[in-house]
Amino acid sequence: MPDVVDLIRAKRDGGRLADPDIDWLMTAYTGGLIADEQMSALLMAIFFRGLDPAELRAWTAAMIASGERLDLSAVPAPTVDKHSTGGVGDKVSLILAPLVASCGAAVPQLSGRGLGHTGGTLDKLESIPGWRAQLDNAEIVSVLRTAGCVICAAGAGLAPADRRLYALRDVTATVESIPLIASSIMSKKIAEGTGALVLDVKVGSGAFMKKIDAARDLARTMVGLGAAAGVRTSALLTRMDTPLGRAAGNALEVEESVATLRGEGPEDLVEVTLALAREMLALAGVEADPATALADGRALATYREMIAAQGGAPDAPLPVAPCSAVVPAAESGYLRRLDAFAVGVAAWRLGAGRARKEDAVSASAGVICRAKPGDQVTAGEPLLELRADDEARFGRALEALEGAIQIGARPPEPQPAVLERIGP
Ligand code: URA
Repeated sequence: MPDVVDLIRAKRDGGRLADPDIDWLMTAYTGGLIADEQMSALLMAIFFRGLDPAELRAWTAAMIASGERLDLSAVPAPTVDKHSTGGVGDKVSLILAPLVASCGAAVPQLSGRGLGHTGGTLDKLESIPGWRAQLDNAEIVSVLRTAGCVICAAGAGLAPADRRLYALRDVTATVESIPLIASSIMSKKIAEGTGALVLDVKVGSGAFMKKIDAARDLARTMVGLGAAAGVRTSALLTRMDTPLGRAAGNALEVEESVATLRGEGPEDLVEVTLALAREMLALAGVEADPATALADGRALATYREMIAAQGGAPDAPLPVAPCSAVVPAAESGYLRRLDAFAVGVAAWRLGAGRARKEDAVSASAGVICRAKPGDQVTAGEPLLELRADDEARFGRALEALEGAIQIGARPPEPQPAVLERIGP
């Protein structure tokens, strides 16, 4: 049996871990034979020394082997999923899953909840009365077979090692490591059983990766892990320096998603969603034009079917916050910058997000961007509308927005929402 202290020392000193040692480490940790302080030390050694590609493949495979792998063989269409590294106003999944399903691929979208300034897909959908995030494996397959797509919580059986490692990383300052992020994301996605996967790697102030070089590195690492596991994988690097669309907050984002499915979506949100849809359909080997499925109402019909199959009432009114406040334009000119991170923190402080995993979120709190970068604005006109369940929330939300808005005499250079593609 290997000695965990020897393995920590080897990694600390820049050595490599052999495949059987990695398998043993993961089994021993999830089995309680390795203490949290030992795994913390190893994670910190990995944070500084990294994992080479072969070590990373073994580490990811060991995380997958810590739990079950979903069997989607009963689904009669090619399966393809999308994962976003998380952003502000990123409601793409709500539109994309039914859109791609309405074109003929099946989308098993096992999602998470928001933590910190980024929202979570499940929190958003839970603002729909009756909608259930928790499905068992048989229900996942059944909704996939009927609606063609499902968005639900990843069950406790999928890559359970990640749950423990992620909690440990969160409290030991070892989250921001490319091999640890890549193995965490890819272990869950590979265990989910999808045949193909498109990664939306966000870049900018509101993203995990603030710089394009780091985002590219993360994307390449994840694409490599997918390919090694037999999952056709590609990545798009997309901008996240301003909120995507106009709404940040749970019910507010559902409302904007439905408007987008009705053909009334904001330009940047539609651009990113269609780019991801084209990528997913290409990987799934399905020839179809997602722009047509969005325009002719097929995607909206599939959305309604998916929501209803999970107990939700697609036509029920969404909760509306009782309190609102506006942030007016301080001067006239062009909106040059509206910082994604600041808007995300403001929405979080208004109640849309949580500080700890066990906290409840407000369905109706959030921020609506009445103007977007490039828009011409007049002094005094509302730029942002804040919504909350309680007036007392506004003070700290407004503090988060200090310095987040810049107005100038000229509009900013137009920027594409999709920056780069990485993949086969
Ligand atoms: N999301 C994950 O699932 N894991 C990480 O490590 C970071 C983001």
